[in-house]
Amino acid sequence: MQKSEFEYVRNEVLRSRDHLEDETVVRAVKVQSDIRSFAGSFLRGSGYIEIPPVIISPLTDPLNHPVIDPRIKSYGGDFWLTKSMIFHKQIAVQSLKKIFIMSPNIRLELEEKQRTGRHLYEFTQIDIEALNHSRDQMMALAEALIKDVIRRLKKEDAAEFRYFGRTLPDFAEKFRQVKYLDARKEYGDQFEKAISESSREPVWIVDIPLEAREFYDREYEDQPGILRDMDLLWPEGFEEAISGGEREFKLDRILERVRKKGQTEDQFRWFIELAKMGIEESAGFGIGVERFTRYACGLDRIEKVTPFPKVPGKVSL
Ligand code: AMP
Ligand code: MG
Repeated sequence: MQKSEFEYVRNEVLRSRDHLEDETVVRAVKVQSDIRSFAGSFLRGSGYIEIPPVIISPLTDPLNHPVIDPRIKSYGGDFWLTKSMIFHKQIAVQSLKKIFIMSPNIRLELEEKQRTGRHLYEFTQIDIEALNHSRDQMMALAEALIKDVIRRLKKEDAAEFRYFGRTLPDFAEKFRQVKYLDARKEYGDQFEKAISESSREPVWIVDIPLEAREFYDREYEDQPGILRDMDLLWPEGFEEAISGGEREFKLDRILERVRKKGQTEDQFRWFIELAKMGIEESAGFGIGVERFTRYACGLDRIEKVTPFPKVPGKVSL
């Protein structure tokens, strides 16, 4: 190891030790632990079963934004690290019906994402999917999940919230919904930021156009190019909390959508083979655990909520 590299490692280990001793971090990690626990018990109570995460697979989410993509060649095949379990969810619900995963995702985001305060290159999403469910049903589940977790946090983490000087509001029965194209027309390209900053409650963005999403969310039959999907924005400028939607499940639609996105069938053949055999419809969403914690604690930077933060652009423990 070169001297400069050695110094880098030493400094990083020191920084990591200081980070773990920071009271803000210690308290936020406690809140994160409770979010995982309360969300898990809420979902189990709603009939969902937890399945273990997939970390390495020949099939993962293509995403709709650029990331560095480490390919692992072994056993005569190509593997990727999980960017999301979207396809595994769709496959697993065919028999397991209602599932969730505490799913670690590796997305080597571009260095510029460091600035946002809400991106890590290793994070966990609670990834949820249900067979024969609609977007509306999954939105209602997400609202109930968030309200239940926050209700329990307020009760059981009162000391943490006192420390953070944070009073979380009681949210309205239903969260407001805005259509993506209406939001963009009113607020311009930075509409998510504008809406999040001016809201005290979470806000749904619905009906997202295909160019802003991946191929697998379901298109309206009567509105080509518009998807039956949704994002949820945290209020107070914390921005995206959730992405989800109904999924394409018919083979011809899946193939058409892969083509429309300019992708190759070969890339998704593990999924396409299954679709050829026939799959039923499902819907679901993923909610980022670290972002939930950051919002709950009212913190400026996402790395404060986790013991070993992976900040884009930086080699970290
Ligand atoms: P996606 O389906 O790509 O929207 O990811 C699902 C959820 O995971 C998002 O709504 C965020 O809450 C969270 N998430 C996505 N990317 C990141 C990231 N780089 N760092 C932290 N959380 C993330
Ligand atoms: Mg998203």
